Amino acid sequence: MFNKRIKIKELLSQEPAEQEVTVMGWVRTFRNNQFIALNDGSTNNNIQVVVELGKFPDELLKRITTSAALKVTGAVVASLGKGQKMDLKAGNIEILGDSDAEKYPLQPKKHSLEFLREIAHLRFRTSTFGSVFRVRHALAFAVHKFFNEKGFVYMHTPIITASDAEGAGEMFRVTTLPIDGTAPKNEDGSINFKEDFFGRSTNLTVSGQLEGELGATAFGDIYTFGPTFRAENSNTTRHLAEFWMIEPEMAFYDIEDNMNLAEEFIKYIIGYAIENNKEDLEFLAQRLADEEKQLPQDKRSEMGLMEKLEFILHNNFERLTYTDAINILGESNHNKKKKFQYEITGWGMDLQSEHERYLVEKHFKKPVILYNYPAAIKAFYMRQNDGCEPGKETVAAMDILAPGIGEIVGGSQREERLDKLERRMKEMHIPAEELWWYLDTRRFGTVPHAGFGLGFERMVQFVTGMTNIRDVIAFPRTPGSAEF
Ligand code: ATP
Ligand code: MN
Repeated sequence: MFNKRIKIKELLSQEPAEQEVTVMGWVRTFRNNQFIALNDGSTNNNIQVVVELGKFPDELLKRITTSAALKVTGAVVASLGKGQKMDLKAGNIEILGDSDAEKYPLQPKKHSLEFLREIAHLRFRTSTFGSVFRVRHALAFAVHKFFNEKGFVYMHTPIITASDAEGAGEMFRVTTLPIDGTAPKNEDGSINFKEDFFGRSTNLTVSGQLEGELGATAFGDIYTFGPTFRAENSNTTRHLAEFWMIEPEMAFYDIEDNMNLAEEFIKYIIGYAIENNKEDLEFLAQRLADEEKQLPQDKRSEMGLMEKLEFILHNNFERLTYTDAINILGESNHNKKKKFQYEITGWGMDLQSEHERYLVEKHFKKPVILYNYPAAIKAFYMRQNDGCEPGKETVAAMDILAPGIGEIVGGSQREERLDKLERRMKEMHIPAEELWWYLDTRRFGTVPHAGFGLGFERMVQFVTGMTNIRDVIAFPRTPGSAEF
């Protein structure tokens, strides 16, 4: 059988006892015509294959170049060298795939992350990206494990939708109509989408929430975990045009239950990664520490990556209202000395990411959950708080802000009262007739319910310490870029 191989991760966990094994992988380095560092992606660690001098023909040795694919069979022996406990004494070497050393773009040296983005199809073969994507996998697995253990139903909400969930972002249109100007038109000159594939205008989804609510009001607890799309032209280190979002939606939950679940969830998946991907995280922690050495003292993180993750696990998130946050910000020396680009103008303003980061990184120095935001700056479906001062109406919204990342979760208790929801929709010019199905949940057995959305890539950034979101998704889609 071709595939009878042992993965290097498993091999390295064994004791060397002359056992015969077959490994397959890609050459990282080949030193002195004698030592092959072979990697198969199961771990960042390589197996050292020792090639006895004179045992193999020169023509074969010449083909052992960086990234050539090999099948090696041999005996596992205790290593004489430092740095590894075992060697694989090559008995047989088969070249499965050659790699032209002259043309191979990834040389065994340090490349910049920017350069590696240009060869994203090969960057998984570096230690950094090997670790990032194994951690990404572990986090994704932990997401399902967490919700499964709690009895949530995993729901696949549609990718093509006719609704703009919340005006959450600019949308990508989905159409089969010609774009050369010959598309069928209405009398007023606008495009007649009745002639389009779905008989209406459709887009790629920006959020699965509204459909998620339909599930929650039948199953109780559901979650989605899928791709979402936003055509926002914001070239930042935290925005992608295509990103993965996790959106749990729970019946019989109020905003406090919602915050509790979100905090527990974040801690759980971080804990899972620490337990199952320690080696990768330690490698990434070292990488980050090395990178930060080049920064001036005041730009470096106060904690190492591992320390930061442990800190998150063992400390409560700070919870405060939007109103308290505005007061803290307004009275901060930072604001008084006019160090914010956007001055704190008072209650009602939308917080900029510099404000959020100040609260998290300077003031509280831990994750912060802000809740009860002004209704005017939040979406129509968020539950209107009772007993607000006139002019200071708030909704039961909550955002979780994380150090170094900013907003990582956005959520709310949903407005379950039909009359209030309809009134709000009218005020905000949301077409109620198009959302008749959404409003039906409020007509037939409506219940208090809540949910949130967590941007998966921002979570991966937080756990891996990668500063650019383009480096935690395999093939990033951003304005002007959709290679691979
Ligand atoms: P931001 O203000 O950072 O743009 P948002 O308010 O638009 O975020 P929501 O609509 O609440 O975000 O989306 C829920 C979560 O999805 C966010 O908390 C964030 O983690 C993530 N997210 C939002 N937009 C993007 C994006 N363009 N790329 C990656 N993740 C995103
Ligand atoms: Mn946004």
